[in-house]
Amino acid sequence: MPREPSSGSSNLVAPQPTRRRVAAVVLGVLACATWLSDFPQPAPLACVEPPGDTRVAVRVHCGEASDCAAAQALAIDVWSEHQGPGLPLDLVVYERDVPTLEAAGLRPEVLVSDIDAVARAEAQRLALPEIQKPSDWFGEFRDFGAISTHLGQLAALHPERATLVAVGSSIEGRPLWALRIGGQHPGSTPMLVNGAQHAREWIAAMVTTCVADRLVRDYETVPAIREFVDRTELWVIPVVNPDGYQYSWSSNRYWRKNRRGSHGVDLNRNFSVAWGGSGSSKEKRSEIYRGEYAFSEPETIALRDLARREHIALHIDFHSYGQLVLYPWNHTPAPAKERGRFTAVGDRIASAIYAAHKTSYSLKSGAQLYPAAGTMSDWMYGEADALSFTIELRPKGGSGFVLPPEQIRPTCDEGLAAVLELRAALD
Ligand SMILES: [Zn+2]
Repeated sequence: MPREPSSGSSNLVAPQPTRRRVAAVVLGVLACATWLSDFPQPAPLACVEPPGDTRVAVRVHCGEASDCAAAQALAIDVWSEHQGPGLPLDLVVYERDVPTLEAAGLRPEVLVSDIDAVARAEAQRLALPEIQKPSDWFGEFRDFGAISTHLGQLAALHPERATLVAVGSSIEGRPLWALRIGGQHPGSTPMLVNGAQHAREWIAAMVTTCVADRLVRDYETVPAIREFVDRTELWVIPVVNPDGYQYSWSSNRYWRKNRRGSHGVDLNRNFSVAWGGSGSSKEKRSEIYRGEYAFSEPETIALRDLARREHIALHIDFHSYGQLVLYPWNHTPAPAKERGRFTAVGDRIASAIYAAHKTSYSLKSGAQLYPAAGTMSDWMYGEADALSFTIELRPKGGSGFVLPPEQIRPTCDEGLAAVLELRAALD
């Protein structure tokens, strides 16, 4: 289980009288001088750099499960949503623990040398006045309020093919906004696309909003989009975890769960297929806490009820990161009954994504990964009978959840390609 980050111990130390503080510094300098002259004797404590509380994202390649477990024991947070043989394991550790990983032969590769500095830089950029009054809406990341407004504008722009519907509300009372696109013709295929079950995965919220934008605006000019909209009733919910998403904007950039209590629930472990099984946790502090019982959260209830009511046949759950196209099962290595169909359609989706910008997304199933029980995709397939995929968007590793804003548009092209191809594959 991930450890809680410790609060900086320096904040707990009462200020010393000035004379005593100076004396401590002088003694420290003298001690360092002694250490330098007597090298290689062990450094006295006063000379060693204070233990670094800098939080570092590292990638390790652990061949054995025991190596992964050893690495995870040091982790403050686990960034890899999917783990398994051949997949790298991305962790957040304190800087002071990196040598321990090296000593264990895990060859940690630093992805982000200071994740909090990166988040601060992003927040400063987003606070700039020119970004708050956007001329290029998809040139930057947007918070829940801005995304909600944008969806409303799309519905107002083309009410004949787009309607804004609240399909439920979050624990803190935020609406779960869905843009319903198409569905004008009898026999339209019901499809669901959602993002941001996990709060910190901002690119998933932007890509789903952008997919909706493209489908609504480009209907007249792009034949493939016109064909899609004419034959589909698409429900797009860019932010299914609005409380967590807003919290990741206001308070903790790396927050993952919803805002149940002070701990939160991992929505993508709260669905009822294999709920409570491996790859989920009963510990409230865990990042994969599954909740008290299946569908204990209003956000997962809303998704379940929508899928049942609308008889959703096709589904994509967008996440980040890793550049993966994943199909059920997630909870067991046993192959899904329709495994052949999933691999054929998944191949087409990965090829369509590649055609957009020559970016490779790997196709995998739960059978090739460690299990994750209680996921939305397993429920959409197992209970709602939908052809369901989970897509982990950009990046492959790199900067993790904090993506440069220039990546929004190309990643949107990849998301749109996946949505169009999944619908085309049904024919
Ligand atoms: Zn996720």
